[in-house]
Amino acid sequence: MSSSSHSVLLKTGVQMPLLGFGTYKLVSPEDVSRAVDAALLAGYRAFDSAAVYLNEAELGRALKQLLPKHGLTREDVFITSKLGSKDQGERAMEGALHSLSDLDMGYIDLYLIHWPGTLDLEITDPRNSGNRAESWAALEELHAQGKLKAIGVSNYTPAHMRELIQSCKIPPALLQVEFHPKFCQTELRKVCEEYGVCFQAYSSLGKGDLVTDPVVLEVSKNCERTPAQVLLRWAVQQGVPVLPKSSNPDRIKDNARLFDFTLSDRDMDRLSALDCGHKFCRDASQVV
Ligand code: NAP
Repeated sequence: MSSSSHSVLLKTGVQMPLLGFGTYKLVSPEDVSRAVDAALLAGYRAFDSAAVYLNEAELGRALKQLLPKHGLTREDVFITSKLGSKDQGERAMEGALHSLSDLDMGYIDLYLIHWPGTLDLEITDPRNSGNRAESWAALEELHAQGKLKAIGVSNYTPAHMRELIQSCKIPPALLQVEFHPKFCQTELRKVCEEYGVCFQAYSSLGKGDLVTDPVVLEVSKNCERTPAQVLLRWAVQQGVPVLPKSSNPDRIKDNARLFDFTLSDRDMDRLSALDCGHKFCRDASQVV
């Protein structure tokens, strides 16, 4: 994986924008359409969905309707979706085909196993591991057929990553995990670097809570940028792709203005020093 200022090249040869649009909690056709319209206008070219967000069909429909209005085609956008934990294992092929059918965009640019665990299995159940392997084999097959242009995982720990890399035919192109100044994921980033796996951030704004952090506010004042831009810039300046979500057109536009300023080394260090292992999302680390 190599990176340019606005995109990263995944090792499957697929180019992915550093800035993507998060769609979690956008569900109704009206909300999805309004947000996608604002996002396309603001310059977002990547969209992050998942089977469990229950918005794959709405996202596909909105894109098909809005791309021509913005002078764009299917090839101009990068769509990510994810296999739900209810479909881990023997149902994985069916689950991925369901995502392809709901999105109805011909192919999916990047498809991820959403969580290392399987719904209704205890986190200590050894069958989780076999299910992960079976899911990955299904994704490999659909990748070989050209239906999933790149495949990867989400919420995997270093141990899950090593397990996958040791057993797979096609290595994961990307790992999507929670990442922000309060949760820097140093070990996971090292594992990704070691195996050439793109490391992607979610919840960069701490689900909205980090924009009021005193250090973030101070850096924001220094560089005359919004707290959200500071948090997102902190990640992309390290080559880490981001997926801010907003339903507000002004914030959608604001969050996309990341490539016309630089944070000083001092501000980058001050933000990174906030790392305290604080998560805003659910923890996947105990799944075997
Ligand atoms: P996030 O992007 O960190 O924060 C979203 C929240 O911040 C929303 O409540 C939003 O409210 C608010 N917000 C957005 N822009 C803002 C701004 N400029 N100033 C102040 N507040 C702002 O959280 P997230 O949705 O958890 O993560 C982003 C995306 O990552 C998701 O949508 C999803 O696509 C992906 N994700 C993946 C996983 C996974 O397990 N793989 C887990 C979590 C998230 P408004 O909508 O009102 O603006």
